[in-house]
Amino acid sequence: MYADETSPAMSAPSGVASSGEPGAKRAGLRTARMARMSRRIYLPTLVITAIAAWLSWRGWILLSQYGIAQSISAGRYELAGPLVLGFVFVVTVIEQIWPAQRRPLLARGHLLDVCYLLFYALLVIPLIVLIGAGFSTYLAKLEPWLVLPRMPSIPSWCFVAVAVLGIDAMDWLAHLINHKITMFWRFHAVHHSQEELSILTTYRAHPLVHVSFLVSAIPILAVESNATTPAVVLTVYACLGALPHANVRWTYGMVGRLFISPAYHRIHHRATGRLDINLGTVFTIWDALSRRAVFPAKSAGQAVSATGLAGRPIPVEQAGRLRLWRTMLIQLTEPFTSIRTESR
Ligand SMILES: [Zn+2]
Ligand SMILES: [Zn+2]
Repeated sequence: MYADETSPAMSAPSGVASSGEPGAKRAGLRTARMARMSRRIYLPTLVITAIAAWLSWRGWILLSQYGIAQSISAGRYELAGPLVLGFVFVVTVIEQIWPAQRRPLLARGHLLDVCYLLFYALLVIPLIVLIGAGFSTYLAKLEPWLVLPRMPSIPSWCFVAVAVLGIDAMDWLAHLINHKITMFWRFHAVHHSQEELSILTTYRAHPLVHVSFLVSAIPILAVESNATTPAVVLTVYACLGALPHANVRWTYGMVGRLFISPAYHRIHHRATGRLDINLGTVFTIWDALSRRAVFPAKSAGQAVSATGLAGRPIPVEQAGRLRLWRTMLIQLTEPFTSIRTESR
């Protein structure tokens, strides 16, 4: 039940009903209906949708000069190609052998996340490519301030390393914004709704969440005159960013002080509310520098914390009442509806 949901009978303005004029009555009812609808719609997320639509349009115009289909295929190969899918498959097998939480391979949470993975590969990646291209047209205007000068004495791999660190910093910043600002959180909450965390949960994300992560394109542009960041580096980064969702107890030991482990990211997904700790994607440094790093305990027998959103403000498949496709549809449309009463 929404906090501001009002029954039709309650929301009809009494002044209109008593006017007696049919035209005025109709207009009054129309106004009341629109007022009811606006109370059910969360307008800030529509603004993000409009930005995505505008960037997609700009991206479409830009890419039509080079070939839209080729650009989307390249994006798909990089983000959901054989290397990424093979990696997800191997980790899924490992999850079944050494799970943090034992559950069937065909658990409802896993099945819905597979639906999200298909959705990501088929529709979300084309959107990412289009909005990314649209965003690049604006970044190009800032090029004189963003691009580092040519430095031939420094090997190009150093610039690739700087780009990767920069991408990670931008991802961290975008993630922080997703947690701090409610209109972004509404989209990000879909990712946090998963109660059966696994490597597949990486793909449980609202397509419009990617608007906030566009800033991670800036470091690639910054090193452009010194090095081109290879696609395979971005693919490996995508795999390292997916692994912390795995349903395993791995802390990575000492390496886990620098790289984000599944145990570390599980703390971020704890079902205790909207946590703005452990926000990193691959490296822990940004959390550590901002005092937001909470490292997992070392003991192997430690109880595994539950994940998801307390009070289920977003309908979840574990409730078991709806078909998976219906649950997914509700989850994708939920950010556009009024804020619920439960804590977010
Ligand atoms: Zn988060
Ligand atoms: Zn996550």
